[in-house]
Amino acid sequence: MIHLLMGAPGAGKGTQGDMLVERCGFVKLSTGDILRKHIADKTDIGKKIESVMASGSLVSDDLLIDMVRAELSRLHAEAPESEVLLDGFPRTVEQAVALEGLLKNLDCGLGTVIFLDVSDEDVIKRLCGRRVCRQCGKNYHVEYLPAAKDGICDDCGSELMHRDDDKEARIKNRLGVFRTQTSPVLDFYRENGHYVEMPASGSSEDVFSGVLDALEQSKSP
Ligand SMILES: [Zn+2]
Repeated sequence: MIHLLMGAPGAGKGTQGDMLVERCGFVKLSTGDILRKHIADKTDIGKKIESVMASGSLVSDDLLIDMVRAELSRLHAEAPESEVLLDGFPRTVEQAVALEGLLKNLDCGLGTVIFLDVSDEDVIKRLCGRRVCRQCGKNYHVEYLPAAKDGICDDCGSELMHRDDDKEARIKNRLGVFRTQTSPVLDFYRENGHYVEMPASGSSEDVFSGVLDALEQSKSP
């Protein structure tokens, strides 16, 4: 069964997805990862994506849908009983409609659509405080997960950086794009499917138990 985890940047989607994979054996299909894999493997799709990206445009819905179709079909053939978490898709109503068709063709149901709801203020606080190690990529947070020595990675001693993407103006911009793009998708699932909206400002363990409840509920008709 396919489940969707949705939420603004900084809502904790990545963390919750990883917890589902590690603790419950979910398979995560992330469009970002699949894109990178196609490019690395130089597949036909990968070559198309590369030329689109080189021209500075966004990857089209059609290309994304082809990619998700290929991945879901492969997974469905190899492990039809898997609990799959789609990450980064669908982002538009057009993609959501295409996903319905895809799932119908595979005779596979859409499970729960979970929306992790956080306020813009919380996202800004979370992301603005984030620091990443230049060398090993380890994540820190000035408030919630500080390094022992200010600005220096505990693990490798390299300098921590504040990514441009994690600065306030950029975050506000990303949030604006997310809200505009995703609200219609959320409306779509409110009307079609097992849609659960949950506050996600608590600790990751609290949010995770809510996620598990939501998934459990979708099993009972
Ligand atoms: Zn490091």
